[in-house]
Amino acid sequence: MFTTTNWKEDPKFAGQRKKLVAELRSKGISSELVLKAIGALPRQNFFPKDFEQFVYRDAAFPIGLGQTISQPLTVAFQTQLLQVRENMKVLEIGTGSGYQCAVLAMLGANVYSIEILKGLLTTAVKVLKNLDIPAQVFLGDGTLGLPAQAPFDRILVTAGAPNVPQTYIQQLKVGGILVIPVGDSEKDQKMLRIIKTAENETRTEVFGNFQFVPLKGVNGWQ
Ligand code: SAH
Repeated sequence: MFTTTNWKEDPKFAGQRKKLVAELRSKGISSELVLKAIGALPRQNFFPKDFEQFVYRDAAFPIGLGQTISQPLTVAFQTQLLQVRENMKVLEIGTGSGYQCAVLAMLGANVYSIEILKGLLTTAVKVLKNLDIPAQVFLGDGTLGLPAQAPFDRILVTAGAPNVPQTYIQQLKVGGILVIPVGDSEKDQKMLRIIKTAENETRTEVFGNFQFVPLKGVNGWQ
């Protein structure tokens, strides 16, 4: 797992973060690695200023340009489903605040993350750099994946898709896992975990209902 000794913070945040981790555990998150990553990462750095009291609540929060930093339980749930191991090549769609990207990097993954909105990407890049978190971020339409870097061990989509873009299946290794929220409505999705079992074969598992901001782009909601 990625560690650093450079992070200094107001001690009150450490206490709040510990409580959040206990809350996530009580809500069913069981991966010790995921809980450890969330327990180590200063979420306040990814948050808009002046909203300190909301940083460690288990809720999504606006980060500007109509987007949100995902609810901690959602971040934990998606990350747990993804079964990330060290040195895996992981593609994230929707960098947003950079928080989910940082959680994946904390697990020792080689993270590639794409964001479609420049305004958000610029801030996320600064925050990640400030924390020395190694991740490669790209501006563009994430529904096209990242062909130049494919194939990936894991692909995580953090915006709600109308269906499963085949690009992601193509850009997964055999044995790879895609986690993606999919739904007919822009405001209601089911979480899917899709395992690429062979070159032309996948197995899909369906999890609970979620509400993500829409996945835009060529293979998303236009
Ligand atoms: N993972 C983020 C969640 C951000 S919300 C976090 O931890 O903060 C989803 C993000 O997906 C938004 O920032 C939105 O701009 C972005 N997005 C939507 N469609 C996209 C696309 N086609 N390609 C890349 N990013 C996209």
